[in-house]
Amino acid sequence: MDFAWSGEQDGFREQVRSFIQEHWSEGARMREDLERPERVKEYQKRLADAGWLTMAWPEEYGGGGASYIEQMIFAEESTFAQAPTGGQGADRLGPALILFGNEEQRREHLPKIAQAETNWCQGYSEPGSGSDLASLQTRAVRDGDDYVINGQKIWTSGAQHADWIHVLTRTDPDAPKHRGISYFMLRMDTPGISLRPIVQMTDEAGFNETFFEDVRVPAANMIGEENRGWYVSATTLDFERSGINRMAEAVPIYDRLLAHSKAADSAGTGRRVIDTAINRQHLADTAIEINVARLLGYRVSWMQSMDLVPNHESSISKLFGTELQQRNARHGINMLGLGGQLRPGQSQAPMGGELCYAYMATVSRTIAAGTSEIQRNIIATRGLGLPRG
Ligand SMILES: Cc1cc2nc3c(=O)[nH]c(=O)nc-3n(C[C@H](O)[C@H](O)[C@H](O)COP(=O)(O)OP(=O)(O)OC[C@H]3O[C@@H](n4cnc5c(N)ncnc54)[C@H](O)[C@@H]3O)c2cc1C
Repeated sequence: MDFAWSGEQDGFREQVRSFIQEHWSEGARMREDLERPERVKEYQKRLADAGWLTMAWPEEYGGGGASYIEQMIFAEESTFAQAPTGGQGADRLGPALILFGNEEQRREHLPKIAQAETNWCQGYSEPGSGSDLASLQTRAVRDGDDYVINGQKIWTSGAQHADWIHVLTRTDPDAPKHRGISYFMLRMDTPGISLRPIVQMTDEAGFNETFFEDVRVPAANMIGEENRGWYVSATTLDFERSGINRMAEAVPIYDRLLAHSKAADSAGTGRRVIDTAINRQHLADTAIEINVARLLGYRVSWMQSMDLVPNHESSISKLFGTELQQRNARHGINMLGLGGQLRPGQSQAPMGGELCYAYMATVSRTIAAGTSEIQRNIIATRGLGLPRG
């Protein structure tokens, strides 16, 4: 088996690295820039001009016709450098529209996503429906050429910066739960939509509660058929879980932790983090896990490039990559001693509080896009053929 990259792929990786270095300030932290969405947008427009925002889409919809492997290399290098990629429009809604949208919807939305003109958010979860998503209660009732939506979504990431939302609603309350759901696209400035931010323990407000009060959406904005929205969303979730970024997010933190661990402490005692055996063990373990996680992620992209549909393979990659992020942050914060608990911005925080931030931020990684327990269920049933519990 030959795991080596081709010369062309190596060349493309170098190209991506230089692009990021030139256009995204070195060492910039995504979280700081999320506070400045206009900066992210400006960078995404540059990516669009380079043809990289939606590079694996068909050319007729604004894509570059590139391979999934190139797309993965781009995503991996961007995440290593903590630089933005395409966001939800490019990663989730767009691919679902390519598969399930009608021609008019594709022509309307895909080129705008490819040009970074529109930002999307995802309205799936509700206060009582997360893992058991098909139990969702937000209602859409047909009224002439429109549907009228009432209900509430929660954990809507980035809704405060989004122009559009893709949302799951119940259109047939009497049907079995998976068969009464329809999938709509709505402008966020539609009358009747309101947001309430949710503040996390990192002090950021990355997601929201989203309320719908008599919101009218044209029937033409439905993706796929009425009451068949569940099957569209299942594919969107497969796309969401496929990304190499889950693993790649751990890498820059690990690299800086490793460099910090080798350096003498700033108090002038000459002590280093790596002088303790258990810390060396943790660093070695994480290096192994990062390599394993990369190969799991590469397998998903390779399957996509062969026109295979990764399902439990995406769950394996998502599960391992997100739990790796948590282990990396947990070991790191312990290795830094009591000071590791200091937050970014607090004086004397080792590594600028980066490990403390990562420790708090990665708690959510094993919940977002389906919890670890749900991924294990998918691997057990669809991957191993074990019975449902
Ligand atoms: C950072 C982040 C971003 C998010 N962004 C979005 C977004 O943009 N849009 C959106 O719609 N949603 C979003 N979510 C919501 C996310 O999809 C849900 O939180 C997730 O699906 C879990 O649902 P829940 O929170 O309702 O937990 P629950 O489903 O109530 O689960 C509670 C616990 O029970 C366990 N559990 C539940 N069912 C089973 C089972 N069958 N077997 C074993 N264990 C089980 C779970 O694993 C979990 O530990 C986001 C979440 C996070 C953390």
